[in-house]
Amino acid sequence: MKLYNTMDRKVEDFVPIEEGKVGMYCCGPTVYNYAHIGNLRTFIFEDVLHKTLQEAGYSVKHVMNITDVGHLTGDGDDGEDKLGKRSRETGKSVWDIAKFYTDAFFADEKALNIERPQVVCKATDHIQDMIALIQRLEEKGHTYTAGGNVYFSIDTIDDYGKLAGQKQEDKLSGARIVVDGNKRNPQDFVLWFTNSKFGEQAMMWDSPWGRGYPGWHIECSAMSMKYLGEHFDIHCGGIDAIPVHHTNEIAQSEAATGKTWVNYWCHGEFLLNDKGKMSKSSGEFLTLPVLVSHGYDALDYRYFCLTGHYRTQLKFSYEALDHARSARERLVAAVSEMKAKTEPSEVLGEKAAEYKDKFFSSLFNDLRCPEALAVMWKMVKDGSVSDADKLALLLKMDKVLSLSLDKVPAKKEEKVGGEEEWKLVEERSMAKKNKDYARADQIRKELEERGYLVKDTPKGPILEKIL
Ligand code: AMP
Ligand code: ZN
Repeated sequence: MKLYNTMDRKVEDFVPIEEGKVGMYCCGPTVYNYAHIGNLRTFIFEDVLHKTLQEAGYSVKHVMNITDVGHLTGDGDDGEDKLGKRSRETGKSVWDIAKFYTDAFFADEKALNIERPQVVCKATDHIQDMIALIQRLEEKGHTYTAGGNVYFSIDTIDDYGKLAGQKQEDKLSGARIVVDGNKRNPQDFVLWFTNSKFGEQAMMWDSPWGRGYPGWHIECSAMSMKYLGEHFDIHCGGIDAIPVHHTNEIAQSEAATGKTWVNYWCHGEFLLNDKGKMSKSSGEFLTLPVLVSHGYDALDYRYFCLTGHYRTQLKFSYEALDHARSARERLVAAVSEMKAKTEPSEVLGEKAAEYKDKFFSSLFNDLRCPEALAVMWKMVKDGSVSDADKLALLLKMDKVLSLSLDKVPAKKEEKVGGEEEWKLVEERSMAKKNKDYARADQIRKELEERGYLVKDTPKGPILEKIL
């Protein structure tokens, strides 16, 4: 298996820390609003990665957080807590908002056949783990307190910004106006807030530094280490997390442990709309329920996402979604017909086995989904592969594609003949049962005059249209 590692800027062989096992952490949703279909693109990519690793033979422990506190409207510690803001605007409690949008997110995941990660952890359930990690950083001299907040001092480490590949001097010269005058370095970031310009926050906890709430980045470090250990294999997210969120996660995690934290950093590219990156904060975004309300199946959107490589931008349009829908429907129709004719084969023939290898080697090569889909369609159209092999292989491919092909019903034989013809068929059966062969013959002729041939099969009589 090969994966592109953002840290090294190249595709690398994947070598797990522990043989046969993968620990994978993915930044989860910030639950102050619905996930938009751009967010969902990233979660689909992570699901495909998880399932591909499984098909490659690994047992995967997948951990995802739910950000229900600490994510400010600005990534650089500026702005207001996103949930707090929403609560102020709607008059609902932050807890109700978090619960509502977490449930909405789970419903989206289910509709998209995204497998629920083994561990889904809420930030607000792990405040003590975050406090313990901040204390560890404090003991090692990586923090300072100013204006009531606890900050991480990036000047206490020498490789800050290595993920984004930016030198510190470049970052400094390009830094935005320093909003927070308490920072010794504009790139320093908050680990614990006690001083909020918005006064009393609804979510506050006691801490050694006073009553307050955690910064956003510390939650991912604390929770990933709790469930995956201090050194694990893969960390994922959208590319927007690279310059600040993941950069800061790395700084604090490696400062605390004194060693490499994550081996492979995998990032999904953006979903775009007409105006560029789809984002929640712009207010102009599409959700999965909106697509469904326009008559699409959630899996049309999953198929659409599979048509683009996760490291290239994907532009959403209804026209493109229509193409995805018609391709998915053609696939479903083909599977339905195959199911009507045959059972999946137990052992694949030589040709089908070749397609299987090609399909999975595309996926194992940095998740080349568009290439894998092309192999799948070539196989479906290949007359030299039996339906039984096709069906078996499609069901196997669907372990990763997750288009619910296992649930597609077999195509029902179209009923030939109308109500009157079938009454005659029944009458004929009765006549035969009563050994009234003359009447049975008469009915057969009558049916022929009506254009139908009656045939007796082990499953009972059938009608065929005389052409
Ligand atoms: P959030 O709920 O804002 O914390 O974002 C959840 C995930 O979606 C993160 O991994 C983001 O990096 C990712 N994301 C945000 N916007 C987009 C977009 N337009 N396309 C793809 N992924 C995105
Ligand atoms: Zn994170």
